[in-house]
Amino acid sequence: MDKKLLQSADAAHLMHPFSDFKEMVEEGTRLITNAEDAYIVDVDGHRMLDAMSGLWCCNLGYSRKEIIKAIDDQLNTLPYYNSFFQCTTPASVELARVISEIAPEGMNNVFFTGSGSEANDTNLRMIRRYWDLKEQPEKRIIISRKNAYHGSTIAGASLGGMNGMHKQFSRLDNIVHIDQPYWFEEGGDMSPEEFGIHAANALETKIQELGPERVAAFIAEPIQGAGGVIIPPESYWPQIKKILAKYDILMVMDEVIFGFGRTGQWFGSQYYDIQPDLLTFAKAVTNGYYPLGGVMVGDKVADVLKSGGGEFTHGYTYSAHPAACAAGLATINILRDEKIIEKMAEDTGPYLQQRWKELGEHRIVGEARGLGFVGALELVKDKASRARFDDKCTAGAICRTMSIKNGLVMRATGDAMIIAPPLILTREQVDELITKAERALDDTAEALGV
Ligand SMILES: *Cc1c(COP(=O)(O)O)cnc(C)c1O
Repeated sequence: MDKKLLQSADAAHLMHPFSDFKEMVEEGTRLITNAEDAYIVDVDGHRMLDAMSGLWCCNLGYSRKEIIKAIDDQLNTLPYYNSFFQCTTPASVELARVISEIAPEGMNNVFFTGSGSEANDTNLRMIRRYWDLKEQPEKRIIISRKNAYHGSTIAGASLGGMNGMHKQFSRLDNIVHIDQPYWFEEGGDMSPEEFGIHAANALETKIQELGPERVAAFIAEPIQGAGGVIIPPESYWPQIKKILAKYDILMVMDEVIFGFGRTGQWFGSQYYDIQPDLLTFAKAVTNGYYPLGGVMVGDKVADVLKSGGGEFTHGYTYSAHPAACAAGLATINILRDEKIIEKMAEDTGPYLQQRWKELGEHRIVGEARGLGFVGALELVKDKASRARFDDKCTAGAICRTMSIKNGLVMRATGDAMIIAPPLILTREQVDELITKAERALDDTAEALGV
């Protein structure tokens, strides 16, 4: 494999997502060539423990032959057919049935898409259709949260609360954002519990300001992922639940990251005891081996959509792609048969959290938080005041480089280092992760001169 040739062709022809094209060409790209278990290997043979599961997808790691075989078998039997015009395929029916078994209670229908972003587009269409069929067309506004991530189509980016994305494209109408429950950054002098209530009450204030008769839905990730693994204070979700119960507003849970086991339950909604009306999923549903996303639809919404009123004029060429559905089925079978989620919840999850919290002792770590199989480290110059090194997120960028140098993939979100490792890590691999993260922190501190 000619590294130089591939890198120059990359620079000449491939436009990468979420990249500064100019900077990337100057610095060169990291060429990943193969992977096994929880490790990726680059073109130089540098092997790294992938504590991000790819892009939050490969919850079972990189070596699950059963999923690959299921895709292969399906491609050999029926490589493509669509689900338009009253057609269907065995794999898509079977996956829909199995998903209703594992979904939060009362969610017995699923609409398949090709990705998480598309699924959130579908949510917008379903929410609108639902209120129209209920003859409440004035319910139009969706409330979301600042610094949320809901994908990168126009609807996804509008629903999301990322400033950088909004700056490059104006948002769709009828979407508003409230503050996020990010205690470390925005909690000030409040205790986390006080701040959780405060952040949740922003929802009620917004509903009253807009008028509940105009609010269609509230969308949120159970824990913000791309925003920086922001785990809301324990007081937050119970208060949100109380507020939503008071008004007639749909609850959309975006579980593209937390679905399929990451909290130690199948879904984050179950972890937080929330009954969503719509639930977005993607990423780990196929262990990342084949593109698939979708919306799980609660009975309340499905009953209305199925009650007549004509065609739902929405769908994608690859909705319920048979190979994607076969990959989903194989993934769910492994999660179930090998009790992967239960084992993580009982053993390796608490162990990871116990060891991860130890990193909070490090001189440049202001907070080490985590839950299930995610974690975040807030890099700070001063622990007591939570002051950062600078406002350019230099510390995070350095730590990411140091982490890779030490054979560990962590992601930097500003000055927060985040992880979401494959659920299959052993205790020994958890130790390896912690040792490498500690080295990365030491090297970062040294580079920052502290
Ligand atoms: C990744 C992600 C999406 C978008 O999924 P794509 O498959 O990239 O379109 C939506 N919501 C959340 C919470 C995500 O993490």
